[in-house]
Order: sequence, then structure tokens, then C-alpha cells
Amino acid sequence: MRIVITGGAGFIGSHLCDRFLKEGAEIICMDNLITGSMENIKHLFSNQKFSFMEYDVTNYIYVDGAVDGILHLASCASPVDYLKFPIQTLKVGSIGTHKALGFAKAKKAVFLMASTSEVYGDPLVNPQKEEYWGNVNCVGPRGVYDESKRFAEAMTMAYHYSHGVDSRIIRIFNTYGPRMRAHDGRVVPELINQALEGKPLTVFGDGSQTRSFCYIDDMVEGIYRLFKSAENDPVNIGNPDEKKIRDFAETIINITGSSSKIVFGKLPADDPKVRCPDISRAKKILGWSPKVPLKDGLRSAVEYFKSLNLRSGGVR
Ligand code: UDP
Repeated sequence: MRIVITGGAGFIGSHLCDRFLKEGAEIICMDNLITGSMENIKHLFSNQKFSFMEYDVTNYIYVDGAVDGILHLASCASPVDYLKFPIQTLKVGSIGTHKALGFAKAKKAVFLMASTSEVYGDPLVNPQKEEYWGNVNCVGPRGVYDESKRFAEAMTMAYHYSHGVDSRIIRIFNTYGPRMRAHDGRVVPELINQALEGKPLTVFGDGSQTRSFCYIDDMVEGIYRLFKSAENDPVNIGNPDEKKIRDFAETIINITGSSSKIVFGKLPADDPKVRCPDISRAKKILGWSPKVPLKDGLRSAVEYFKSLNLRSGGVR
């Protein structure tokens, strides 16, 4: 197998590079490094089967020789990042997906689109099944991400039906673990690092909004199984263990043994009030369900952030 991973230097992308290399694949990792990091892939540079191209996939994509699979992970993924890079976020989900699909068609490669639970917006049903069409504010701050991913799904299905591209669509729910950026703004790294630094934990709103957190190893297994399957319709992958953010903050305080307190701040615009995947399809089609309990996964994430702090001497 020869596989191209766009966004391969990012959090989930770099773990997919590891996994596909372990399965014996050759990997071409593409990333423009606006949110990805060489730190995430530097351990792979000595591997003959791994190569890296610093590249913006909104440009024409060319790779010499056969390619069997394309995993399109390239995108900003944290609300803070896509507010900072709104146009890049829209471009990579739209133009970047178009280029990646054209490339998949030319190579007769399997194409996997990394979509998101954000296609459901601020959902009016909970948990979310794949059949739910969502509740998205296209002109709100999150619209740049939500709409780019909704467009990407539509484009993927169009290439599937019109050009016969063998495509997969995964809707990724909140995922956490080693290689997240310490300050990417997402609730898991933010709260863990605040707890480790003895700073107050910033809970937005009254903390009654819910999220459901999936450990990275479970996510990678789900993505790998979907890639290997023959499923063309969207599949939710995530952990249905739904938590209120306020309770999640308490869990972080307990796990880190921190003396930090919780402070409540303003809820960002259009912040979804609930989010929880219905994973019946993934269970049925892929035989997949998450295995790592939240507390175990969080302990690994805490260890990772502690080791980052040691390496950087506490300065980031
Ligand atoms: N959040 C929070 N404190 C933070 C960062 C995020 O309370 O320091 C909240 C945020 O408002 C949202 C939830 O945690 O309700 C998850 O936010 P995240 O940025 O991780 O991603 P989202 O799930 O909203 O895409």
C-alpha cells in the first residue's frame, strides 16, 4: 500500500502515519504546518517508508507513481484555530478537498474524508445519528469549519457517484491524547495545562454543555477499519460517554491532583449545547466501539503534557 495523508503532521494525522506504517504501508505525509508540527513526525524521518512534503493541498496535488489510498485530514480543527484562520479553513475543506478528490480519481485510490461532528452544528437531537441533517449557522463564527466540512462531504459523494471514486466519510467527534498542542484552545489540552500550571480552569458558560471524548488510539482504530471497509456513506466515530464540561473540569482536577479552582467565562457564539455520537453504524459495519475509559486516556494525556513541559522547561 502507498498512502498519502494530508494533514499528516497534525494530531490525528500523525497517529495515522504511525498506524499505516505499522501495517506495512509506504506513507507520503503532506502538511503546510499552519497547525501541524514537525515534532509530531520527527520520529519517522529515519523510516525509509516515510516521506514528508511541506505542501498546501489547496494547490494542484502531484505525486509520482501509484497511490492506493488518500486520507484527507488537512484542516484547522480547533475552534480557536479556525477563528484565527477562517479563510484557510474554508479553502482546505472546499478547494483542498476538490484537489484531493481529483488526485484520488487520477490514481484510482481509495479516498477517506475526515469530516466532523460539527456537520451537526448545535444539534437539536441527541445523540446524533448519521441520518440527522444538522443545525448549522453558516454565517456564525463556526460556519467556516462546519460549512467547509459539509461541502467536503457533498463533494466526496459527488465524486463517488459521478466518477466512481471509492470514498469513505468519517465524522470525527471530540478526540484527545498525546500530540495535541498544549494551547490549541480545545478544552482537553487547555484544562489539563491550566491544572498542571496551578491556574484556574476556564469553563465557558455554566458548563452544562456536553461533549463526548474519544481517546486517540480508539479513533485511529476506527479510521483504519473504515478505510479497510467498503462503506461509502458517512460513519460517526467517537466515544458516546457524554459529560458536562463542568464535570469534565472536576475530573481533570482530580486526575492531576491540582489545587486549581474552576472559573466560569462567556460561552462562545454558537457553542453546541450537546454532542454525543450514536455509534450504532460503526458497531454494525466496522465491529468497532471505543475501548479506552476517559480516566485512563486522560492519564496518558496528562503524562504527555507533563513531558512536554519538562522538555520545554515550562516555557511555551
Ligand atoms: N471550553 C471550555 N473551556 C476552555 C475551552 C473550551 O469550557 O478553555 C468548552 C467549549 O465552550 C465547548 C467545550 O468546552 O463547550 C469543547 O470545546 P472545544 O474547544 O474542545 O471544541 P468543540 O467541541 O466546541 O468543537
